[in-house]
Amino acid sequence: MSTPATLSSSSSYTGHLTNGDPRLAKASYKPTHPGSFEVTFREGEYNSCLVALKSFPKGSVIAMMSHATPSKTIRYSTVQVSETEHIELNSDLLYCNHSCSPSVHFNVSGPANTWRAEALRDIHEGDVLEFFYPSTEWDMSQPFACSCGAKNCLSSISGAKHIPSDVLASYVVNDHIKRLKAEQGQAQP
Ligand SMILES: [Zn+2]
Repeated sequence: MSTPATLSSSSSYTGHLTNGDPRLAKASYKPTHPGSFEVTFREGEYNSCLVALKSFPKGSVIAMMSHATPSKTIRYSTVQVSETEHIELNSDLLYCNHSCSPSVHFNVSGPANTWRAEALRDIHEGDVLEFFYPSTEWDMSQPFACSCGAKNCLSSISGAKHIPSDVLASYVVNDHIKRLKAEQGQAQP
């Protein structure tokens, strides 16, 4: 099992370098938020998930995104924080998967020092932490078929650009997504 020869000087977090391979990721895993949440590794690519280690009341901050660094490349692991900017989380928040009925909101509407993961509902110890990818992503680099099991599952997730306004309106999304959706609406005849 080889490890990357060089790491970014800005971070030693390597989860996003494993391309979803749980064997690679588990081998070097050190929780970034012990006591708050940790990764449960599962066989298969992109099957691992993030699990709460304590309760988080609705509206509370689960974690600040204080490890985030700008990313010029849009990847499965990046999060969009404005019309043009993307970040690597460099923490276990990377394993917060998509759900069409999310428990977590990645709030990136304010300045970088306010970026945070918030509880959208009361979260209990053992709950899987999931957010709604189109709440940050406009047009995704890796669209996928969703099997989250939610009643309102959107089936195909490819970013907010591809979701009708009335459907998107039922979700908590970031300001850049609201702006892009409004522009898209104005551009159509
Ligand atoms: Zn779904």
